[in-house]
Amino acid sequence: MAYNEMLEIINSHREGILQSEIRKLMEIDSKKCSRIVNKLMKEHLIRRDDELADGRKTYRLFPIGFIGPSERHLKLIANGMFSPCTGCNLECYPESCYPLNEWVLAVIEEEA
Ligand code: SF4
Repeated sequence: MAYNEMLEIINSHREGILQSEIRKLMEIDSKKCSRIVNKLMKEHLIRRDDELADGRKTYRLFPIGFIGPSERHLKLIANGMFSPCTGCNLECYPESCYPLNEWVLAVIEEEA
């Protein structure tokens, strides 16, 4: 449950998200957060870069597989957000999928 939630959050932040932000969003302690992050990295679903935030060392987490848009990828980008379904390996419930919902809203905003 928390594993899938974290993966969805990271997948919806193509620009990366601080591990400390995820911990606050999910309301979990740092030990549990680190355990899930390590599992996601071990399964090659995310990558982690060192970062300083407010003078403290933390990490920025990125979805794996996004190395920048090519021409054909541009159609899958709305307001800087890549289609979350591309490469997704989550159990799929499109009607309640947060990343998909966010992306569709970005498409609508971009077309407005
Ligand atoms: S709709 Fe399905 S494939 Fe698309 S991001 Fe959500 S879970 Fe993944």
